[in-house]
Amino acid sequence: MRELKIWMNGRLVAQDQAVLPVNSAAVFYGTNVFEGLRAYWNEDDGEIHCFRLQEHFVRFRESMKMMRFTVPYSDVDLYDAVRDVLKGNEIREDIHMHLVAYVTGVGLDATEPTGLYINPRRRGRLSESGLRCCVSSWVRTSDNAIPIRLKSGSNYQNGRLATLQAKADGYDAPIFLNGHGHVAEGSGATFFMVRRGRVVTPPLSADILESITRTTLIEDLVPRVLAQDVAEREIDRTELYVADEVFFCGSGYEITPIVSVDRFPLGDGRVGPLTRRLSSAYMDLVRGVDRSHAEWRTAVYGPRGAKVAVGA
Ligand code: PMP
Repeated sequence: MRELKIWMNGRLVAQDQAVLPVNSAAVFYGTNVFEGLRAYWNEDDGEIHCFRLQEHFVRFRESMKMMRFTVPYSDVDLYDAVRDVLKGNEIREDIHMHLVAYVTGVGLDATEPTGLYINPRRRGRLSESGLRCCVSSWVRTSDNAIPIRLKSGSNYQNGRLATLQAKADGYDAPIFLNGHGHVAEGSGATFFMVRRGRVVTPPLSADILESITRTTLIEDLVPRVLAQDVAEREIDRTELYVADEVFFCGSGYEITPIVSVDRFPLGDGRVGPLTRRLSSAYMDLVRGVDRSHAEWRTAVYGPRGAKVAVGA
């Protein structure tokens, strides 16, 4: 398979040329912030659509602000860089991208110099038949310890430990509880459940990432597809075991069903009907098969910076 080039500080380079100094804060302490997003190929439009790119840029800047460093690129520069990655690699398929800003200065308090790379990779859908999850004995890091609502690379050691433990214990993925004992999220995804027909997700104050997919579900998909509002409330551990349906969502995870928690089967132990409907509506929306919310899809092969004005 053709190797994809990485955009690094202004140019596309081969994977083995995208390197960081070993003594940089980026390598030593994981001093970086990042975004993970997907772009979807739409055969009918002959176009690739980045989903909610602007929202990813906003969160990217908030993460940099929080971690006290910045990169010398405007949002237009960032858009141009994303376009260069996709066009330069002639990508005409679904693709996942990591945008990573990092500090190459030395020391814990280094704030500069900084750099930026965008790494495109082919990443298929996660499990469509459903994950078997466990409640992790690792606690979700508190927002008072590290800014878990934003995407700092070093946050993810918490998720790494929980994921490795889950796999060692024979599960696919962990679900975190926070320090108050309530359900938080997955290692790289937001948590939703359906209980007695109602769609429920933890509040943003539950030590979770401010997820863009979560917002898409709350603002658009759940009201439109299921004709109900999402209840944002604390979720207790035991509710996980008696939920009708449970799923993860995220830019990478899209909508990924969960079929059991701690070996308690959920519903009939198969992917639930509401999860199925939301998942297929989500895929139609991100690809632009569902023409609504054109403002959430940014075209790459069309005119520079154009939003896809489909259906207009
Ligand atoms: N929580 C964590 C810890 C994540 O890493 C992600 C993926 N970015 C999510 C939730 C989902 O966020 P989003 O919908 O913005 O991708």
